[in-house]
Amino acid sequence: MTKRRAFLKNTFLGGLGVVAASCKGMAKNHSVSSNPGDKPIVISTWNHGQVANNKSWEILRAGGSALDAVEAGVRLVESDPEGSSVGLGGLPDRDGNVTLDACIMNHKNECGGVAFLQNIEHPVSVARKVMEETPHVLLVGEGARQFAIQQGFKERSLLTKKSEQAWLAWKKESRYEPIINIENHDTIGSIALDKNGNLSGACTTSGLAYKMHGRVGDSPLIGSGLFVDNEVGAACATGLGEAIIRVAGSAIIVEMMRHGMSPQEACEEACKRVIQKHEDVSNLQVAFIALSKTGEYGTASLHKGFNMALRTDKLDTMQEAAFQLG
Ligand code: ASP
Repeated sequence: MTKRRAFLKNTFLGGLGVVAASCKGMAKNHSVSSNPGDKPIVISTWNHGQVANNKSWEILRAGGSALDAVEAGVRLVESDPEGSSVGLGGLPDRDGNVTLDACIMNHKNECGGVAFLQNIEHPVSVARKVMEETPHVLLVGEGARQFAIQQGFKERSLLTKKSEQAWLAWKKESRYEPIINIENHDTIGSIALDKNGNLSGACTTSGLAYKMHGRVGDSPLIGSGLFVDNEVGAACATGLGEAIIRVAGSAIIVEMMRHGMSPQEACEEACKRVIQKHEDVSNLQVAFIALSKTGEYGTASLHKGFNMALRTDKLDTMQEAAFQLG
């Protein structure tokens, strides 16, 4: 029996309590600790999460809302031309189009998203407008672009010289096949708890590099890329969107927290769920971050290599995620 099969067998234990207890010993790395009670707090995905957190922190420290904080934080990452996985400079689809997905959710379960949006630098802010100015939750493609223009957003090309060159180089070797591997994704997802005890989250990405034209991942989908329930906590995802959607990753984390798991346990259990539902996860990376209503946080990934940026009054640091598979 392979290591993975043995791992899978161990996960069919049923019952949240049993699963929670079993997953504690399973993650290979338990460097993540939690610090209940810290407020305000912001956590974000990957190294660029620190850039986002710094901005969010200015707002949170001054007593601003979690919603304003996460939006302002991820906007900086959207505007960074050096980042190849979000907004400006994001790697294009296999036809050379940069297409963006984003969503945002507040403490009142209000939410908005955009998917397959082109030529708008700040999809997260368009998502917020969808939430605040329309009766809908998700706008896509040309409709989302038209809405953005109506709301005063300016159009610009998001394909930089660097991302165009990378795409041209990819085309030579690719045989036009979209790539799935554990490295070609790096969404910025951010969750904050403000001084008033309110949670909000935001998630924004250019999605998988060299994806099929029209492909949408988990990041704009409430419940997959992001979920917030102000009574319980919030979670956000990065990694292969198809795998995250299959388990409704962020929603199940919040539900597991509702039933008593810590954010750390719930993130690990969601990773186990992804493993259960896939035949082969050797080339598939998924990672989660979660924050509870009390300021407790956690992070877990399938494979080694994911990290989360954390900012509180006392901490400004990167945390390596607990990983399941090495
Ligand atoms: N989750 C994103 C997607 O599948 C990719 C990422 O995390 O960068 O589109």
